[in-house]
Amino acid sequence: MDFKKIDSVVDTFVKNNSLRIDTLPMVIDYSKQILNKKSLSFKDGWSREIELNDSIKNVYKFLLTLDGELASQFYNILMSKDENDKPYVNLLPRDKHPEGKNEVKDGRIYIYYDNTPLDMFTILHEMLHKMNECKILEDELNTETFARDYFGETVSILGELMLGEYLVNEGIITKEDFDKRKNLRLNNSKEAARDILIENELIELKLQGKEITYENLIEMFNTFDKTTSEYFVFADEKYDGSRLKNINRDGKLRTPVSQRYVIGYFLSNILSRRETLEEDFIKLHTAIGDPEANINNVYYDIIVKEVHENKK
Ligand SMILES: [Zn+2]
Repeated sequence: MDFKKIDSVVDTFVKNNSLRIDTLPMVIDYSKQILNKKSLSFKDGWSREIELNDSIKNVYKFLLTLDGELASQFYNILMSKDENDKPYVNLLPRDKHPEGKNEVKDGRIYIYYDNTPLDMFTILHEMLHKMNECKILEDELNTETFARDYFGETVSILGELMLGEYLVNEGIITKEDFDKRKNLRLNNSKEAARDILIENELIELKLQGKEITYENLIEMFNTFDKTTSEYFVFADEKYDGSRLKNINRDGKLRTPVSQRYVIGYFLSNILSRRETLEEDFIKLHTAIGDPEANINNVYYDIIVKEVHENKK
């Protein structure tokens, strides 16, 4: 392991990401709560097969229950083609693309399907990312604002939770299918939470003016209370070094990406239990599509509004 390289990567991050570092304490708290949630185990497979076209129809019908405009936007994007008649949405069979990553990239959407209930969640998730891309900035292909960067996953993951409820109520999937989907999401969020806790300690060392060396990391590890999340996450890291290896290989931290999933998992679980769920979902979806959106306004107006209202 090249600790000098890791030290320089973290040093650069600390110098260029003051906004992200300011919001880290909140994300760390979310990460610890996610790591304390218990994962369940399920047997392999799903209750049924479902054809891609049926999956698309079900997602469309779900969106119709929320908002007619959202549903037609979904349909229009699915049908849209570029000047060379190439569709923007690429629906590809998973078995032919085992390494394919579901994502929105350079304005195009890549979705890998395997004819299981999972497809409906993937379709909605990626399409929501596309649907709330900032419209004004689209021409410049610069579709990220900090608010979108921060809350983009919250909208997509919250959408998945609402879709799951709908599909269970309609008898399209079983409750176990939905629980399984939620558990997959929890497990992914736990991985992201581990990235955050490890990288935060590296950032912390740099903020204290220390160099990232094996000795300094061990010294820090020895200060952790053995009952804390930091302790068990670092005990695993001490054993396999997997996250330090990633930083060494990629030359960058994962915090900017991982925090979106931690925030998304945590906040979507809070929002999904609200009476005003549908209204808040649309508000958040609209807000992050606004290139002028301010992260604090979005946070206080939509997410902690209960706290605000109680304070009045
Ligand atoms: Zn996503």
